[in-house]
Amino acid sequence: SAPLLEVNNLKVSFKMFAGEVQAVRGVSFTLDKGEVLAIVGESGCGKSVTAQTIMRLTPTPPSFIKDGSIIFDGKTDVTKLSEKQMMKIRGQEMGMIFQDPMTSLNPTMTVGAQIAEGIRKHEKLSKSAAMRRAVELLTLVGISNPGERINQYPHEMSGGMRQRVMIAIALACHPKLLIADEPTTALDVTIQAQIMDVMRDIQEKTGTAIILITHDLGVVAEMAQRVIVMYAGKVVEQGDLNDIFYKSQHPYTWGLLSSVPRLDSDKKAALASIPGTPPDLFAPPKGCAFAARCPYAMKICQEQDPEHLPVSGPTHTAACWLMHPDAPKVERPVAAGG
Ligand code: SF4
Ligand code: MG
Repeated sequence: SAPLLEVNNLKVSFKMFAGEVQAVRGVSFTLDKGEVLAIVGESGCGKSVTAQTIMRLTPTPPSFIKDGSIIFDGKTDVTKLSEKQMMKIRGQEMGMIFQDPMTSLNPTMTVGAQIAEGIRKHEKLSKSAAMRRAVELLTLVGISNPGERINQYPHEMSGGMRQRVMIAIALACHPKLLIADEPTTALDVTIQAQIMDVMRDIQEKTGTAIILITHDLGVVAEMAQRVIVMYAGKVVEQGDLNDIFYKSQHPYTWGLLSSVPRLDSDKKAALASIPGTPPDLFAPPKGCAFAARCPYAMKICQEQDPEHLPVSGPTHTAACWLMHPDAPKVERPVAAGG
């Protein structure tokens, strides 16, 4: 059967006063029904813009889809849909969870009313039937005393509780695809683990496909079946979880893996451990975008952008000149994935 999602050569830019920011520069991947795919990379790599474009949530202007297609469920190219058509798909077919639930929840409505409203936008249900569904959904996301919780306002809840409510809203109409953009980043470590448990549990119970955007490889290891590594608006490596963790071939992936946060260390410090900064996407370099930071960079890397080559089987590919048969042999660092 057709994949749930087929992203083909997607290019998304932002027109700014100073020029065009090429945030997503030709991203392709597929997602099967029920699959959990993680998109990883540093902030600014285009992972959030890619995810938001799938739901057509980037503001237009300044953003625009420059090229490519996003085929959803084997038929609809979401890049071609009007805002009115998209509104039907959002919530109904695709749900999204953001980093900060406070910005997406309405502070003036009880959580029960918000969940019920979301349901009634897409389904003909009485208010009381929608409220009953809201109670079921709060139970599904592990909120105890849901009958009382539905009458609370967002500010009466903890951050973790609010994120559970956001997940309930995203799931209200049984979407085929759930996009979670850094769903636990704003939460403290113990609550993060609880939210990931909820997501895993829901994935098993409902079979929804998930795209998980994160810079936290610990979260990836726990949840994802497949992983896409993005850098400077492009996919640099993709593969199954084990391919990425144990057989990765791209020096940027190696850098990310060596910066896996330990539970006892500060995340931000750990992630800063790839020296240097990503290139300016107003004027991306013509060669490999990672060349300025790559310890293995060769002359060709400055001149030509490497194509994706298969690593092991068709689903694991990497875009790096080291994969070229004539390139010098480089040992994968031991620290990269252990
Ligand atoms: Fe490094 Fe060259 Fe590979 Fe880019 S193509 S990651 S610069 S070795
Ligand atoms: Mg982001």
